[in-house]
Amino acid sequence: MANIIVVGAQWGDEGKGKVVDCLTEKANVVARYQGGHNAGHTVVIGNEQFILHLIPSGILHKEKLCVMGNGLVIFPEALIEEIEELRKRKVEVGDNLKVSKNAHMIMPYHAIMDGIKESKKGDKKIGTTGRGIGPAYADKIARSGIRISDLYWPELFKEKITNNLVEINFLLKNLYNEEPLDAVAIYDTYMRYAQALAQHVDDTDVIIDNAIKAGKQILFEGAQGTMLDIDHGTYPYVTSSSACAGGAMTGLGVGPKTIDEVLGVVKAYTTRVGGGPFPTELENNVGELLREKGGEYGATTGRARRCGWLDLVVLRHAVRVNGLTGLIITKLDILDGFDKIDVCVSYKYKGKILNDFPKELPVLEACEPLYEQFDGWTESSSNVQSFAKLPKNARAYLKMIEEKLGVPIVIISTGKTRDDIIYLKDFQTTR
Ligand code: GDP
Repeated sequence: MANIIVVGAQWGDEGKGKVVDCLTEKANVVARYQGGHNAGHTVVIGNEQFILHLIPSGILHKEKLCVMGNGLVIFPEALIEEIEELRKRKVEVGDNLKVSKNAHMIMPYHAIMDGIKESKKGDKKIGTTGRGIGPAYADKIARSGIRISDLYWPELFKEKITNNLVEINFLLKNLYNEEPLDAVAIYDTYMRYAQALAQHVDDTDVIIDNAIKAGKQILFEGAQGTMLDIDHGTYPYVTSSSACAGGAMTGLGVGPKTIDEVLGVVKAYTTRVGGGPFPTELENNVGELLREKGGEYGATTGRARRCGWLDLVVLRHAVRVNGLTGLIITKLDILDGFDKIDVCVSYKYKGKILNDFPKELPVLEACEPLYEQFDGWTESSSNVQSFAKLPKNARAYLKMIEEKLGVPIVIISTGKTRDDIIYLKDFQTTR
C-alpha cells in the first residue's frame, strides 16, 4: 500500500472509522494527526462494535503500530480509559501505541472554560462537545499550553499549572462566578496519568520517519472533516484543528512528498452535527428518513445529526483544499429504496450561480441549493461486494459523482462490517 491520507470530505461522521479499519489491513502504521476525544469512530468486527475516540482504529489489528501525533490534544484520563476499555475487551495495547511527546494536554480548566463559554453563546452555539478541545488548542497557539512531555519534568509541570491558574482562577472567580481550581490537586492527578502513559510516550516524528525509510506503509487518519477544519471549514462552526490533509504534515511532522494518495471519505448523502450553515439540509420527512435509516446519531455524544442530500459544491471544495486523488463513498446502502435522489450541483446567491463554496457566512446562509434529480433504485446495495452487482441506478449515481468531481471513486462501502466493501483500486503495490 502507498502512504495514504484518509480525510473526511464533508462535516465528519462520513464513516472514516470503518474504511480506515479496512485499509489498515494493508498498512503497517496508522497515525492520527489532529483533534481530541471529540472524535468518535465506530468499527464493527463480527458481532462486536468498538467506538474509538482518541486511539487510531488500527489498534484493532494485531501487529500494526498506532501513532497519536503532536497535532492532537489529549485528555490523559480519556486516553487511559480508552486503553483500559480496549484491554478489557482483549485488544492488546502496549508498545503498539505511541503518543507524541509534543501533543498538548487538555487540562481540567479547559473543559470548564469550554462549557462556560458555549453556554454564554445563546443561539450562536457552535455545538462543541464541551470537552476542552478548543481551549486546549487556544492555549497551544498562545504558547501557554502544557505538553505530554511536561509530565516527565514534575517541577516544570507544577510551575506551568501554577502560572496558568493565576489567570484562569481570576476569570473563574470574577467573571464566571465559579470556584477556583487547586494546582496541587491537578498536579497529583496528572502525575498518576504520567505513570500510566509512560510506556507510550515517544518521539513519534522519528518513529514515522524510520518506518517510511524502512519501506513501511503509513495510513494517516483524519478525524472530523473538511468542512469542520479550522481554516477551510464553515468558521466559526468548526473544530479547532486542521482536519484537512495539510494537518497530517504538521500534526505528525512528515513532509508532503511522503504522501502518495489523499482519499476523501464521502457519505452518499450529507450530515452535520451541531450549529452552522448546511445548505442541503432537509428539515422534512426525507431528512428524517435518512437519519433513521442511516442511524445518524453521534457516536460520541448521541446527538441527532442533521441530514440532507449530497452537496457537490461542498465536495468540490474538499477536492481542492485536500488535493483529493480518490473518493471513498460510504453508506450507499442507505439510499436504497428512494424513488428519486436529489444532488446539489451549485448554489444560487442573489440570482448568481455559485459553483465554488462561498467563504462568507452571510452569503452561505443566503444560498439556495440547486439540485439535479436522479432515479433511485429499489434493489438492495446492502452488503454487495462487487461493483457489477450494485443496482444499475446506484452505479449511475456513483459514475455521476466521479464525473462531476473529476476524481475517481476508489472504494465503496455498502454496510457496517469489514466485508461490506468494494475496492476499485488495488492499494497493495503502489510503493
Ligand atoms: P466516522 O467518525 O467518520 O468514523 O463516522 P461514524 O463512525 O461516526 O459514523 C459512521 C456510522 O456508519 C457507523 O455507525 C458505522 O458503523 C456506519 N457505517 C460506516 N460505513 C457504512 C456503510 O457503508 N453502510 C452502513 N449502513 N453503515 C456504515
